[in-house]
Amino acid sequence: MKELMVKKINNGSVIDHIPVGAGLKVIDILKITPDETAVVLVNVESKKLGRKDIVKIENRELTENEVNKISLIAPNATLNIIENGEVKKKKKVSLPNFLEDVIKCPNSNCITNSNEPVKTKFFFEKKEPVKLRCFYCEKLFDLEEITF
Ligand SMILES: [Zn+2]
Repeated sequence: MKELMVKKINNGSVIDHIPVGAGLKVIDILKITPDETAVVLVNVESKKLGRKDIVKIENRELTENEVNKISLIAPNATLNIIENGEVKKKKKVSLPNFLEDVIKCPNSNCITNSNEPVKTKFFFEKKEPVKLRCFYCEKLFDLEEITF
């Protein structure tokens, strides 16, 4: 009965293998609207990770932008698309080659923080640990400095 602490969802998305403590950040990224239901399972036992968080959201498929954000905080997460109670698609989250309009530049003098209609763009200088370089101001940032 371990698996059944929370009822299965019939339609929606399950984000599995999230590092412990990052589940609530995932909920934050997904910006749950008042008529949506989501659950976070915190510190669940896992064969692979030891412990993990799981997020389930009903009646929603994630956008590419949301998946890119999640890949930054949960690089080993698995995304399951559920349809009629069955797993229809399962894929591993992976870091994209670059991030467009996904995160904000921490440099307040960057053109992306001015009133210009410029979308942020970052390239990965390194993926482990993550180091991101802003395409516009060319500054390098750690993941901890980044806001979504
Ligand atoms: Zn910048």
